[in-house]
Amino acid sequence: MKCKKIINELQDYLDDALDATLRSSIEEHLGRCTDCRIVVDTCKQTIDIFCNSEPAPLPLTTRQKLHEALAKRLGRARA
Ligand SMILES: [Zn+2]
Repeated sequence: MKCKKIINELQDYLDDALDATLRSSIEEHLGRCTDCRIVVDTCKQTIDIFCNSEPAPLPLTTRQKLHEALAKRLGRARA
């Protein structure tokens, strides 16, 4: 299995959505490819951080400000 293939299947691998054969091929590759292992570890850590943090809805004022800023920027780009 090639590194590119690992990256392609990474999302499903992390979601546990792969069949056993593909999963074991990936794990076998990760056992001997440091580059891919680093990518997988980094992705896992990122997911953990997102899952462990409380979902914080954007306050209305922040959303309005963001909207205004975007509108201004878009308006300027068009002018
Ligand atoms: Zn690799």
